[in-house]
Amino acid sequence: MLKGKTAVVTGGTRGIGYAVVKKYLENGAQVILFGSRKETVEKALQKLKEENPDWPVEGAWPDLKDPEAVRTEIERIHQKYRRIDILVNNAGVSDRVPTIDCDPAHFDEVIGLNVNAIFHAVQPVVKIMKEQGGGCILNTSSMVSKFGQPSGVAYPASKFAVNGLTISLARELGPYQIRVNAVAPGVTRTDMVASLPEEMIKPLIDRIPLRRVGEPEDVANAFLFLASDLAAYVTGEILSVDGAAMS
Ligand code: NAD
Repeated sequence: MLKGKTAVVTGGTRGIGYAVVKKYLENGAQVILFGSRKETVEKALQKLKEENPDWPVEGAWPDLKDPEAVRTEIERIHQKYRRIDILVNNAGVSDRVPTIDCDPAHFDEVIGLNVNAIFHAVQPVVKIMKEQGGGCILNTSSMVSKFGQPSGVAYPASKFAVNGLTISLARELGPYQIRVNAVAPGVTRTDMVASLPEEMIKPLIDRIPLRRVGEPEDVANAFLFLASDLAAYVTGEILSVDGAAMS
């Protein structure tokens, strides 16, 4: 479904991002995954090479909060591959700190990665996509962008902003054939969720009509659809992959 496409995936070393990288490779794309550290990037690359040594994948670890570092890495990728067809802005951190205990620096930290970093990657990529005549930008939102959450306001604030960026960029960039969409996962079995005790998972599952948590692959399938030509007329959409969870 993505034969010959070049994709950049931030936060691609584990969890949802890793599943997206794998799904894109299985579907014929060449992928550059970003992680926060050299060690975790190398570990992810090794795991992928063990799955299939022929997959065209490489990694990088630019500081996503530094616009110049991101721009330099995007330009290097463009020089090497001549195109960037898909950008997946997936790196993110969650937050549970009650408002009264939340240091403003912590609030900045969450917004810095979950929102500002998207902008840092989008700017140089949009220039490239405009020149090449189109492309696809995908962002990872969250079900908290519908409901908020009871503690840790920085996280839902950041994901509401992701939706705002997505819808507005779709309107601005549509005339250049650049589609912009987001995927909003519900509770997904990444490392964090897998380590929760059964007594915490059970009440979560009871509130999900499909009666299970999402798997990273469930989310990756949505990222595949939105990146593919099957979604050629889909833009400005926030696609929930949450089993119809209500909060
Ligand atoms: P994860 O913690 O398993 O992975 C996070 C990824 O982001 C990693 O690859 C990590 O390298 C990268 N990252 C973290 N901090 C970084 C930094 N400072 N600089 C660069 N990269 C950094 O998390 P996940 O659950 O796979 O989350 C991925 C995305 O999905 C996030 O945007 C998250 O908000 C969103 N999400 C997750 C869930 C869930 O239940 N797991 C639900 C809704 C939304």
